[in-house]
Amino acid sequence: MLKKSSEGPLRFNQLGYREILKQFSRACCLSIFNALATSAFAQGCFIPPPDVPAIVSLRVTHVVNPRFPRASGEQLRLLLETASETSMQHFGKSVSFTTTTEVPISEFFNPERLTPGVRAEIGRRIFDFKRGAGDRAEMQRGFVAQLHRESAQVGDIQAFAKPYLPEISRSNTLEALVEVLVDTQLRRLEHWRTVKAADGQPVIDASPYNEYTWWDALPGAGYSAEVIITNQLIASAENGDNSVHSAIRGGVTNGNTSANPKSTLGTTALVSIYPMMARDPAVRSLRGDEDYAPMDAARYAGLLLAHELGHALYHFGHPFTEKSCVMYPPPLLRFRQWANDLSGFACHASAAKAMARAAVKMNCALN
Ligand SMILES: [Zn+2]
Repeated sequence: MLKKSSEGPLRFNQLGYREILKQFSRACCLSIFNALATSAFAQGCFIPPPDVPAIVSLRVTHVVNPRFPRASGEQLRLLLETASETSMQHFGKSVSFTTTTEVPISEFFNPERLTPGVRAEIGRRIFDFKRGAGDRAEMQRGFVAQLHRESAQVGDIQAFAKPYLPEISRSNTLEALVEVLVDTQLRRLEHWRTVKAADGQPVIDASPYNEYTWWDALPGAGYSAEVIITNQLIASAENGDNSVHSAIRGGVTNGNTSANPKSTLGTTALVSIYPMMARDPAVRSLRGDEDYAPMDAARYAGLLLAHELGHALYHFGHPFTEKSCVMYPPPLLRFRQWANDLSGFACHASAAKAMARAAVKMNCALN
């Protein structure tokens, strides 16, 4: 779902850093958000969809935080098998996975891989909910501008979110919708800070590991992998980079696809398996008060990887009204319900616009 798209590409609103600087120098009094919005239209840097070969071979990096439940070898195998089968069923494309390299999260999170300018930009994009220093109005303005860029329709958003946020049906403008979404996101995100992991410490601690913006930037900092799987919870809020599905689940990112010049696809698909595999009260609530058997959790994670591969291989978008499509974002964290609705045949028959190649623009890596 591009962000907390990761789920994908709808959260790929990264701009070339030089372009951001140009905007600042030209209009120093604009907020970061406005500068981003302006340059996204006028001077954005985008990457084209890759020329997909007949057989796609993908390298996998497994990023592990020892604090959280991790996937077994058997679960990882099922995850990748499921992604491969789903790619064939929904995209008609054969994919295989080659090497799987395990990396500790402390090693993966190496800020030195990014330039000082990119690190500073990441700091500006993060909505600092941990210290209560975030600017809610700026966050809302950023979200509205992003939805305009994505040509999001009020009716589509209402239809997608209404089962989980009934009050959203009374909001008939993007601005009013965003106010409800941001309020929900920040309220649910705050709740994650009270949840404890198995070691007795808060699931979200002082480390930056939960921050989406870092996960969006780091794959492009020299990692030779088309796929990253992690057991880390990614839950955060950002200025000017958000998605409807992420907001309603409290800023949780299940997956993301972001630019990576060292990937054969030009992007790296990221999947966080924490939402499927963890059993804390917050995650269970967003799943509809249920736990998943270990192999069910692995299968749902594999379906989500297929979703990300739809972004990576074809730059597909999100068909918000077609539940049969694997590119339809999972509602809250209800993966069982999401999986049961999927049908490659029905999705193809729907001819959803978001399922066209290059339906979304993928931003270049920050540099
Ligand atoms: Zn997506």
